[in-house]
Amino acid sequence: MGYQRAEPYKLGQTTPFKISRSKIEDFIRCQRCFWLDKRLGIAKPSMPPFLINSAVDTLLKAEFDIYREKGEHHPWQIEFKVKAKPFAHKDLSRWRHTFTGVQYHHKPTNLLIFGGVDDVWVTPKKELVVVDYKATAKVNEIKDLEDSKWHDSYRRQMEIYQWLLRGEGHKVSDTGYFVYANGINSRKGFFNKVEFRTNIFPYKGSDKWVEPTLLKIKDCLESSSMPKESPDCEHCAYAKSRTELTLKELQSRKQTDKKQQKSVT
Ligand code: SF4
Repeated sequence: MGYQRAEPYKLGQTTPFKISRSKIEDFIRCQRCFWLDKRLGIAKPSMPPFLINSAVDTLLKAEFDIYREKGEHHPWQIEFKVKAKPFAHKDLSRWRHTFTGVQYHHKPTNLLIFGGVDDVWVTPKKELVVVDYKATAKVNEIKDLEDSKWHDSYRRQMEIYQWLLRGEGHKVSDTGYFVYANGINSRKGFFNKVEFRTNIFPYKGSDKWVEPTLLKIKDCLESSSMPKESPDCEHCAYAKSRTELTLKELQSRKQTDKKQQKSVT
């Protein structure tokens, strides 16, 4: 079953084509899935939303906004020795909105890239700092990103926001911050409450990969042939073996039907 969402790309399209930050991530993970989605409008089935994580995001935004309004540092920024405070700007609510976000029209590809950032802080040198909130529940305290594919996508996420804000004409620090809320599950019971231990740590990004990736995305959009699947995707391997089995079963049923018809005649 196919899931139709945004209008697919039309070959040779002259109007800017919108691509979200998360679709760039999809392209990096698997060009075939990206192509099926953006060229044919066949998107992957949607996942149930992570509402607990969204609740943490919303509350963190509200909490940092209190200090933004007062023009003060959040106590965590002092605790974690972050030389920046919440940035007040007329565009902040647009930057944070999923469907508008920070936007940049990349002229060489005519792609309009956008993504909703969690927060933006500002250094004493007036450089903007991209901030990403994360919520999880791990046994060990989280003080840095791991060396994993999953966390590589967090790194790219921050780097795209840095690139987008630069695209909107802002001076942006290479150093962004993760505000990582880790749920503690070693209490005696739930009692309607989950406590978190939140750490803030820096990440020094580089947006050098963004533009070459956009050129590849454009080539992919302009291609009429389906790209190769990602070799390490378990969904495709599952779909392939399931399809092969189904085809085998259908063929054997056809043969049984033919035999039965022959014996009747
Ligand atoms: S390998 Fe297949 S299922 Fe996996 S992401 Fe790519 S096209 Fe989609």
